[in-house]
Amino acid sequence: MDKDQQNISRGNLLAKIALAPLAIGAFAALQAQEAEAAGMTQKAAGYIKVSKMKGKNCANCALYIAAKPGKKYGACQAVSGQIAPVAYCNLYAKKAG
Ligand code: SF4
Repeated sequence: MDKDQQNISRGNLLAKIALAPLAIGAFAALQAQEAEAAGMTQKAAGYIKVSKMKGKNCANCALYIAAKPGKKYGACQAVSGQIAPVAYCNLYAKKAG
């Protein structure tokens, strides 16, 4: 390896070291966004698998995201994890209409 090649290699290494904090920062920001998108834990929301509240369940909650065809569980805009349409939690908000 001649001197020019060594300088290029050293330059590449220094550039990678200089960019590392940016990459780490971007990764941390992505993780924070994902955690926020996941929402509150089921435990914190008082989620129960089968509603005991007459006429109130996830299927008729405004925050429910219906299960895809062939799937048993949907999702929730506020609570993380798989959400059963017959479940209930303390954040229940009656769907309009
Ligand atoms: S907010 Fe609660 S009741 Fe409404 S869909 Fe989400 S988990 Fe179900």
